[in-house]
Amino acid sequence: MNINGFDASMDSLFDSQESIDIKRINQLVDLINKYDYHYYVLAESLVSDREYDALFKELQDLEAKYPANKPKNSPTSRVSGEPLKEFKSFTHKLPMLSLANTYSEEELNDFDRRVSDGLEGEEYSYTAELKYDGVAISLHYENGILTNGVTRGDGITGDDITMNIKTIKTIPLSVDLSKYQINNFEVRGEIYMRNDDFLAINRIREEKGEKIYANPRNLTAGTLKLLDPNQVAERTLQIACYGLYTNDKKLNSHSDNISILKDLGFPSGDHFRKCRNISEVKQFIDEWKSKRYDLDFQIDGIVIKVDSIRQQDFLGTIARSPRWAIAYKYEAETAQTILRDITLQVGRTGAVTPVAELEPVFLAGSTISRATLHNADYISERDIRIGDVVEIEKGGEVIPKVVRAIIEKRNPDSNVWSFPHYCVCELKSELTRPDAEANHYCEHPECPWQIRKKIEHFASRNAMNIDGLGEKIVDQLVSLNYIHNIADIYDLSKYSDELKTLDRWGEKSVDNLISSIEKSKDTPFSKVLFAIGIRFIGERSAKILANNLKNIDNIINSTIEELISIREIGNKMAESIINFFANENNIKLIERLKSAGLKFQIDETEGQTSSSLSGLSFVFTGELESMSRTEAAKKVEDLGAKEIKSVSKNTSYVVVGANPGSKFEKAQKIGVKILNEEEFLKMIS
Ligand code: NAD
Repeated sequence: MNINGFDASMDSLFDSQESIDIKRINQLVDLINKYDYHYYVLAESLVSDREYDALFKELQDLEAKYPANKPKNSPTSRVSGEPLKEFKSFTHKLPMLSLANTYSEEELNDFDRRVSDGLEGEEYSYTAELKYDGVAISLHYENGILTNGVTRGDGITGDDITMNIKTIKTIPLSVDLSKYQINNFEVRGEIYMRNDDFLAINRIREEKGEKIYANPRNLTAGTLKLLDPNQVAERTLQIACYGLYTNDKKLNSHSDNISILKDLGFPSGDHFRKCRNISEVKQFIDEWKSKRYDLDFQIDGIVIKVDSIRQQDFLGTIARSPRWAIAYKYEAETAQTILRDITLQVGRTGAVTPVAELEPVFLAGSTISRATLHNADYISERDIRIGDVVEIEKGGEVIPKVVRAIIEKRNPDSNVWSFPHYCVCELKSELTRPDAEANHYCEHPECPWQIRKKIEHFASRNAMNIDGLGEKIVDQLVSLNYIHNIADIYDLSKYSDELKTLDRWGEKSVDNLISSIEKSKDTPFSKVLFAIGIRFIGERSAKILANNLKNIDNIINSTIEELISIREIGNKMAESIINFFANENNIKLIERLKSAGLKFQIDETEGQTSSSLSGLSFVFTGELESMSRTEAAKKVEDLGAKEIKSVSKNTSYVVVGANPGSKFEKAQKIGVKILNEEEFLKMIS
């Protein structure tokens, strides 16, 4: 059996071509259904999109040859994906279809010919726009108010993920329709993530030893499946809107719709072009072939649509896609180069990542000399060896990756690579791989590489914000033994004169560093807590801990049960906090930082902004005009209060928006204080 499931056993040699083809149809159906399940439900790709598309095309061609043998569950006759159990289902008013796709100019000409034939000689024009690589969404508005945000699901029924959608700041919660004769309408778009946000999230996940996402699309899909909108809000998703549907008014053209969407305040129509004919479309495709690398998000092609809505309706749809549109996809750009070495990189939590050191090669606009190899499994599954000619790819992926080793070009003397047993640091401590984790770890508390990363994290902008303590300087200070841990930073002033004589240093830079270190002593407690680098404790959880427990001693003395009882602090985090403070070295560090003057308790100013609603509990019911319920909940939490889901005598306030539910009645019945939106806004302002 080869990688794409083609069975070339001896039996098949004696089969007729027809039975081989039919066998292949069934294999392809099973294989594609498996890939679909991983892609749409688990948000992970087992093969590249190019490989998937090639298998899909092979299946379409075979099914066209043997229509009677097309299996009922064939992915070619339906939109892939399925609604999830965790969300309420929503039946689409209009099916959400897929798009036919092509990688070739020839097939683009075929598409144009089909459109021309279908329109029986009528004039027509196209639109060309970016094919955002994300997750399709349908937004429903009633009387200008966003009522539902729904995923594509299987095209007929999707998941109602309105709460998650409302965390995307650029989606209008209400729109002013006074100019248009429209009340109810649907907007379709693609939710995506910017490259920078994707890289930042993955970096944190990698450090925590969590599975990292292969590309922003998978991370976007994974994010939208989260059940906690607060977590979704932290991941900053974007939207590009490319479809408008309504029964209230006759819509003329796709290009007009894009203008209406823009005018109503939807992010829409960036890099959109009207094209008079297929040649102008091809020009647009050519332009974006290289320009796409300048975008700060991923696209996987260009979408071409017949502009006139009347003509779109006339052309209609087939199986899973409209006849009036096609996606032209760009081939992922690949290059071959030599894998010179595999080195290890140690993160601040001790997670060890293998890195490919490559013979520099120019690929898709930049020179690549290093690429991540993720972990031991990634390398062994692909049998990647030092000295191999490897194929690297930068396409749907933001980070260049080693896709495969070119086995035919392999030196016969090469050896299978195995993960080193010892850390790269001078201490050569043994690496461990916890059960069920993909990462290896260096557990030595004095590992200089971890120390470097810990200090870099401590000094970083979102933590203590110490200017001048970047990667290179930290490396120099650790190598020269000026600092061994984060507390040593506050003793650096003792060495001011010595530092001034070092390479790359001068009077001014040393003074600036020392004053920036001094200034960092004013950093609020929640940031200090984040900066000390407890595994799994990010910025938000540090803030929650600080708001709830007020000072470091309360945190150190908390039991696991007490920690877990705090909203959003899970088991893994609580265990990590307990382990961190069970380590005497960490307690000593805290003591030293305390005596250096760092803040280890919420101070008055932090207290004022962060706990002015301390101890109160809020229930929200109905739609608020100025913000989503999730945003409102986040606001009260930032001020030290809690959002709770049901009304009881102990509830402090019930905030009532438009069309409130039964919680409003219950609050009136048991006499809980009720706030309207205006009163609520006043309270939190
Ligand atoms: P698609 O992504 O190829 O095209 C349809 C989608 O494009 C629409 O649903 C919409 O969400 C999106 N889109 C983005 N910009 C758009 C715009 N400007 N106008 C209109 N639509 C726009 O189709 P699909 O059915 O969502 O997914 C199939 C594709 O997904 C495959 O071709 C393959 O590349 C990939 N896939 C990969 C795997 C894998 O394992 N690698 C598995 C399944 C699917």
